[in-house]
Amino acid sequence: MDAEITIIGAGAVGLAIAERLSAEFANLYLVERHGTFGQETSSRNSEVIHAGIYYTRNSLKSRLCLEGKRLLYEYCAANKIPFSRCGKLIVATDEHEMSVIEGLKENAEVNGVDDLVILERDEISAMEPDIFALRAIHSPSTGIIDSHSYMKRLETNTLNNGGAIVYGSEVTGIRRTGEGYVVMLRDADGKTFGYSSKVIINSAGLMSDKVSGMAGIEDESLRIVFSKGEYFRLNPPKNRLISRLIYPVPLHNLEGIGIHVTRDMGGGVKLGPDVTWMASNVYDYTVDPRKRDSFFSSAKKFLPFLEPGDLSPEMAGIRPKIQKPGEPLRDFYIREESDRGFPGFINLIGIESPGLTSSLAIARYVRGLISK
Ligand SMILES: Cc1cc2nc3c(=O)[nH]c(=O)nc-3n(C[C@H](O)[C@H](O)[C@H](O)COP(=O)(O)OP(=O)(O)OC[C@H]3O[C@@H](n4cnc5c(N)ncnc54)[C@H](O)[C@@H]3O)c2cc1C
Repeated sequence: MDAEITIIGAGAVGLAIAERLSAEFANLYLVERHGTFGQETSSRNSEVIHAGIYYTRNSLKSRLCLEGKRLLYEYCAANKIPFSRCGKLIVATDEHEMSVIEGLKENAEVNGVDDLVILERDEISAMEPDIFALRAIHSPSTGIIDSHSYMKRLETNTLNNGGAIVYGSEVTGIRRTGEGYVVMLRDADGKTFGYSSKVIINSAGLMSDKVSGMAGIEDESLRIVFSKGEYFRLNPPKNRLISRLIYPVPLHNLEGIGIHVTRDMGGGVKLGPDVTWMASNVYDYTVDPRKRDSFFSSAKKFLPFLEPGDLSPEMAGIRPKIQKPGEPLRDFYIREESDRGFPGFINLIGIESPGLTSSLAIARYVRGLISK
């Protein structure tokens, strides 16, 4: 075998897996089609360290988010990654939302999130004097991270552990052999070549269903539908009116968690993401400036100081959804595929939010799926 382990995709999840496994396994390759890490979803998200409030009990999303949050805070502190445990408010702006909030808190507590506090109007004003809310949940353990620094550290540690990172190489084919797999790569010059690998870890984000299909695992329930999320920036000086993350109550079936307000480590404040299901899976990161009005009216409910001119188009990301429009909530799909006749092939599909938060816990989980 040329390689013991091949990891496909150098986003936050692939890098976290590479860091962990390269400490233990020799001959590890992390293969990425772009010229560097984090060129897709991992650099187009809210950079929030989620507390684990919304997910279904005992789901991987719930368990890995909680464990991942703890691991990520420890990792940031130990590795000097910029982060802030700034906290978050989920705000209710009418009677109906006030009742939803109670249910959210109960769900979170069942999941093991035990630090949420319900705040009344005067307590909210003391924390965030410029927002409007009748009642809110305060989540003190929600935070933000500089995801670029995080991924850079994961990359450095992988290399220091002796792992190989192959940028500019796209996986174009995977064939099962007696003991493992042959991986076909196409490099930046269009040259193709193959090598053998005992274990394959498919962490290809938006393309993970396609990569799984290359090996021969065709499963309609794992087909990814792109769901775009656009952001608008809150222009200075009003960005300084917010010091925590402010979220509305979430949408039905968690297709998104509502247009929220996030801060980043550079002091920027953005609104978003919204949810647009894309008819075809194209990489379209444009932000439609005509959406300003709908962003404005969603956020105006809890940001009374907002004027339409305070918002400028910022950026977009794409969720790798296996939950199709209107379907109930789906969990992360993380499986070693021996049952389907593909031993040593580990699929990670539908790693949408809270994938960044969960990345270190996902890496641990994946380690547990590999027999040595
Ligand atoms: C709008 C939005 C907001 C979000 N907000 C948050 C948040 O606040 N907190 C949070 O925890 N999570 C959030 N997420 C989720 C989080 O961003 C993702 O779960 C995480 O980034 C997924 O990382 P990944 O490594 O699996 O995928 P990616 O970052 O997409 O990486 C996959 C990599 O695989 C590579 N690849 C694909 N096909 C091939 C191939 N054939 N050969 C070689 N390489 C290939 C790609 O080039 C890419 O670099 C958000 C997501 C979105 C879209």
